[in-house]
Parts: sequence; C-alpha cells; structure tokens
Amino acid sequence: MKIAKKVVLTFPKHTWDKPIIYMLHTKHHLMFNILKAKITPNEEGLMVLELIGEEEDFKKGIDFLKETGVGVRFLAADIEKNEELCTHCGACTAICPTSALVFDKETMMVKFEKEKCIGCELCVPVCPFKALQIKI
Ligand code: SF4
Ligand code: SF4
Repeated sequence: MKIAKKVVLTFPKHTWDKPIIYMLHTKHHLMFNILKAKITPNEEGLMVLELIGEEEDFKKGIDFLKETGVGVRFLAADIEKNEELCTHCGACTAICPTSALVFDKETMMVKFEKEKCIGCELCVPVCPFKALQIKI
C-alpha cells in the first residue's frame, strides 16, 4: 500500500556531505517533495519533506535515515500560541521553517499565522515562556 507522510529531517554537520536524499530515492524507492530547507541557528540542516512510497520501503527508508544520524520527526501536531504567555521575544521566529511565526515590525509583536503551520513542533521547546503548546 502506498503512503505519503510529511516529515521534518534534521541533518547534523557530519551528514552534510552524504547523498542521503538521493539514496532515499535510489535505494529505498521513495519519492519526495521538498517543502522547505534551511540551516537552523545551531547549524543543523533542516528539511521538511513529503515522502511517498510503498509502506515497506517507507519503513526501510526511515530506518536508513535514523542509522545515518538524521533526526526524523513526523508532522502532525496542532499548535496553539497562548497570547497571554507570549512576550514577543521573537525566539520562535528563527526556527519556524514555514514563517508561520513572524515578527511584525509595525506592531513589534510576533504573529502566529496558523494556516502556514505544518505542525513540526520545532517551536515548542524554543519558547522560553511555554506560550507555544501542542493542542491535545
Ligand atoms: S518564543 Fe514564545 S514568547 Fe517568544 S515570541 Fe515566540 S511564542 Fe512568544
Ligand atoms: S509547529 Fe511551530 S515551528 Fe513548526 S510550522 Fe508550526 S509554528 Fe512553525
């Protein structure tokens, strides 16, 4: 059975020279759409992908990623921003891969544009005031 899932991959520096995404396709027969790619402030490569393939290939591909040291996180979470806790410090805006959290220069406040959020959860541990929470 063919499945498609969105994943966030984090690439530590020692993996940058390896053809990991190429191998996902050639060795594990997974198709992919790159939704976002950037370098995070702590110098990890970050990529948001949609991976598509047969269930068995998918499992093997995810195992391969983990074995090579790539961090794998599936997207699913429903994120909420608690406006009472947010101090608009801006820390979350640097990590958000889709710019769902953006600093508005006019109001000097951080806006959460929920329609852009892909639920990667990267912002949750970054917020020092626990204003970004996973809705259960
Ligand atoms: S990191 Fe937390 S407190 Fe700072 S702007 Fe983002 S949500 Fe608000
Ligand atoms: S979960 Fe947080 S970091 Fe990820 S897209 Fe949504 S707002 Fe941005």
